[in-house]
Amino acid sequence: MHEEAAYRRKIMVESQLVARGISDRRVIEAFLRVPRHLFVPKEYEDLAYQDSPLPIGSGQTISQPYIVALMLELLELREDHKVLEIGTGSGYQTALLAELVSEVYSIERIPELLDEARERLRHLGYTNVFLFAGDGSKGLPEFAPYDRIIVSACARRIYEVWIEELKDGGLIVLPLEDKRGQNLIRACKRGEKLIIENHGGCVFVPLIEENQ
Ligand code: SAH
Repeated sequence: MHEEAAYRRKIMVESQLVARGISDRRVIEAFLRVPRHLFVPKEYEDLAYQDSPLPIGSGQTISQPYIVALMLELLELREDHKVLEIGTGSGYQTALLAELVSEVYSIERIPELLDEARERLRHLGYTNVFLFAGDGSKGLPEFAPYDRIIVSACARRIYEVWIEELKDGGLIVLPLEDKRGQNLIRACKRGEKLIIENHGGCVFVPLIEENQ
């Protein structure tokens, strides 16, 4: 399985990521290393390297590899970065981040998913990942500021705390919903200003606020 999975990852990277324009070498190498089949329920293991999201329980999904790659590429990650991830889910994107930066802080609102993600990441030996149960729309002030923030569930606005917890010059990448649908947004914090770019349509599960 080990070698077969590595081969399937190589095909996934070439046909789903590189073929669609992902070119950040470090992102590509991280995708070649992280075993996506260990982040999905056993019954979906065979489908782990296909071009789609998959159910991970509690009504949530592991994101499609291409969209994760695009978000990671848009983040322009460096080895010395400290990153906040909102929506740990399966922990797959958390593992990719752990390969790419020095510290990953990740928040998940569903405790069962968080426990499973913690077990997978521990089993794979990641020591630079710090997981928290809670509502990511409230940020994670204890460890702020962050160089980068990535949100894996679709928000209806860019919360003020996220911007407060971002370093000056830092980037946040997130799916954002308005009346017409979801778009992948990258925003750069420049002093008091937020420079916003739209990177096109996307489909994510909703970000759920605790008090709703
Ligand atoms: N990158 C993850 C995506 C999981 S789906 C993966 O590839 O597995 C998005 C996750 O965001 C879900 O697990 C959902 O429970 C979580 N989520 C939704 N709203 C949240 C919130 N307010 N705070 C923290 N996590 C949240």
